[in-house]
Amino acid sequence: MEKNSDLKIQHQCPQCGAPATLLESDRLFSCAYCRVKSYLLTNGHNQYRLPSKAPEGQALIYFPYWRFKGMLFSCLPENTLEKFIDTSHQACPSPHFPVSLGLRSQALTLAFVTPETPGYFITPQTRLEDAMVIFNRRFTRDITQPLLHQAHIGETVSMIYAPYYMDRRLMDAVLNQPLRRQGEDSFRPEDYPGGPPRANFRFIPSLCPNCGWDLEGTRDAEVLNCSHCLSLWQPGPGGFTAVPCAHVPTDVRDPIYLPFWRIRADVSGIDLKAYADLVRLANLPRAIQAGWEAMPFHFWAPAFKVRPRVFLRLMRVISSALPPRRLAHRFPEHPCQSANLPVREAMETLRVNLSGLIRPAERVAELLPRIGIKPRKALLVYLPFAKRSHELVNADLNLAVNKNQLSLARNL
Ligand SMILES: [Zn+2]
Ligand SMILES: [Zn+2]
Repeated sequence: MEKNSDLKIQHQCPQCGAPATLLESDRLFSCAYCRVKSYLLTNGHNQYRLPSKAPEGQALIYFPYWRFKGMLFSCLPENTLEKFIDTSHQACPSPHFPVSLGLRSQALTLAFVTPETPGYFITPQTRLEDAMVIFNRRFTRDITQPLLHQAHIGETVSMIYAPYYMDRRLMDAVLNQPLRRQGEDSFRPEDYPGGPPRANFRFIPSLCPNCGWDLEGTRDAEVLNCSHCLSLWQPGPGGFTAVPCAHVPTDVRDPIYLPFWRIRADVSGIDLKAYADLVRLANLPRAIQAGWEAMPFHFWAPAFKVRPRVFLRLMRVISSALPPRRLAHRFPEHPCQSANLPVREAMETLRVNLSGLIRPAERVAELLPRIGIKPRKALLVYLPFAKRSHELVNADLNLAVNKNQLSLARNL
């Protein structure tokens, strides 16, 4: 089974300075001492550094790595392969430094890179897209069938800097020992552009912009809710912005709501405007009823992280189900699973979703390459589930989700 590692990051409460340890996926930080909650806003990707054991006074050189953790979906002519990947790669092509971080970053406690961090930070040269191509290749080497499409979803992408220093030769400052690599003799720092680090993050108070109440969410929440004015908020470059949301009212006693992104998209190359189009495209065993030709088709995707296989199943079951009859356009007043999968990730799922809906499956290879999909707008919809001993059940959708799968997903 894959390893679910969440890196640990050393942190200080922005309010009272108390020390704390964050996880890589943490967004909402709640201080154990002063109880103040704050939210981590990052411009770009989070930047962390590995700890150094270099002797006092050594000038450190930091080498950058892209680190990726998330689901990789590969659409093949007859099925979709899913895989959880957790990997890293040089963010600057170099014969002098190790190609990847290996397992070291998982065993150590990292720290944020701030403008005060001393050291020479080598500037990343490899774009994330190019690193992703390398990751894809690493994880799909064994696939022999034609690859129609690939998508990464639910990802955590970070830039991790590993410390080195020069002591006649290039030294690995994490282990405080010489770096044994071919070509290390030819290392000259001046060949690598870089300089002091730049900060790209800040913590903001997690208060409802509407009523000033404390916002709520799990530590990895991408959407926070206000239980005072029943509103939803997501972080943006300038702070929190309102998230349009709705829920399906229910008669179920004591329900729990799970969040899903409902996405309207412009699809070209095939007819997929109305729910009736989907019934034909997916060859669903249902007689098309009056009204279905005018009922808009939406893509659905979980707004929470869950195992890749479960994610695929939920996405496709709900997208092919008859849309909910009634939506109440506000946050539900019942317990909800926190939304920790941002809408930009959900938007990446549409083609993967579609490849699983088309029937017969032999048509996927022919249709998929000529289909264009442009996401237009999204609504966060909370669907009600009844609690059973081991699973959550939505009878309308004929859908059951194992409770374990939800709790395990915290680490993804
Ligand atoms: Zn504090
Ligand atoms: Zn509020």
